[in-house]
Amino acid sequence: MEYADRINRIPPYLFAEIDKTITSKRKSGVDVISLGIGDPDIPTPKEIVESLSLASQKTVNHRYPSYEGMIGFRDACAVWMKNRFNVELNPESEVLTLIGSKEGIAHMPLAFVNPSDVVLYSNPGYPVYEVGTILADGIPVPIPLEIENDFKPDLSAIDIKTARKARIMHLNYPNNPTAATVEKEFFSEVVSFAKEHDIIVCHDAAYSEVSFDGYKAPSFLEVDGALDVGIEFHSLSKTFNMTGWRIGFAAGNPEVIAGLGKVKQNVDSGVFQGIQEAAITALNLPATIIEKNNRIIQARRNLMVDGLSRLGWKVPKPKATFYLWIPVPDGSPSIDFAKKVLDETGVVVTPGVGFGKYGEGYIRIALTQSEQRLKEALDRLEKLE
Ligand SMILES: *Cc1c(COP(=O)(O)O)cnc(C)c1O
Repeated sequence: MEYADRINRIPPYLFAEIDKTITSKRKSGVDVISLGIGDPDIPTPKEIVESLSLASQKTVNHRYPSYEGMIGFRDACAVWMKNRFNVELNPESEVLTLIGSKEGIAHMPLAFVNPSDVVLYSNPGYPVYEVGTILADGIPVPIPLEIENDFKPDLSAIDIKTARKARIMHLNYPNNPTAATVEKEFFSEVVSFAKEHDIIVCHDAAYSEVSFDGYKAPSFLEVDGALDVGIEFHSLSKTFNMTGWRIGFAAGNPEVIAGLGKVKQNVDSGVFQGIQEAAITALNLPATIIEKNNRIIQARRNLMVDGLSRLGWKVPKPKATFYLWIPVPDGSPSIDFAKKVLDETGVVVTPGVGFGKYGEGYIRIALTQSEQRLKEALDRLEKLE
């Protein structure tokens, strides 16, 4: 059976070989510690689980939901955005329920990109920005995130002809995988750039609530003019440890929201209302729930930054996300280093190049294991040859 060309254009899955090694190691009895996946190990708060349990029993929730999402959920999103970022949104026209933010990000180009239109996306980054573009026959153009610029794109370095052909620009702060953060001034520059070149900005704010040391990440929508040029993707996945539940939302420019909604109206039938009701409960929880979660991750961050630094690794201390983005300690290609670590210690770290070519030279460590497991990982890494 032959695949369509667009499937063949999807870049190879660089973690495939590592996944194979993990499976065979586990089979042969090795106690593998995965610091590879960005999937919280901490359970969803019980208030949310109980809310789903009740909502699942209501027969009104057993039927098709509305494609744009329950107004009750969209209202709760708008209130949350107002309380958290002081951003005013009309829940009817400026908020859209998503089956996780990944779904919305993947569908954006289908609404706005014609063949040969360009989509700019930050690299290294979440693979969906590039793949969503390929699936819509658009041309993905990476904008490098480099340490010299604190992992922010240098907008002035984007070639004018490319900027003119661009319809969408994907950005993500706090950033996966680099753990970089930005301040509002950067978002203002993005708005000017987008206005000048008529580009839709898609800001992925999946980690907006995962932060430490008192740092609070800004929303793209907080800056003047942002609502004219873009939308922001929010997710309950990382904020409330709900990756398996599949719910998020898009917020921002009503025409962009309507375009994305048009695609969704025709390809999916929305999110189970029981989950939307539980998500309303989540958004209404006191901030202390999120703070408690962040304290757990902050302690893990401190443990790993200190422990790895003692091994001589150069580990920056991130203000946000549950990732450490670390220059490859021995300077070898990131895939080789990750393989060596797995072979010698049974610890999984992610090679940076798996997030795009500008991720080469780094590895990513996810803090999604208990302190006890992280200590065990440190003990093993100490013995690395
Ligand atoms: C985890 C993650 C998401 C997505 O999540 P959903 O579970 O689909 O809401 C989006 N962007 C980035 C950068 C992520 O790491």
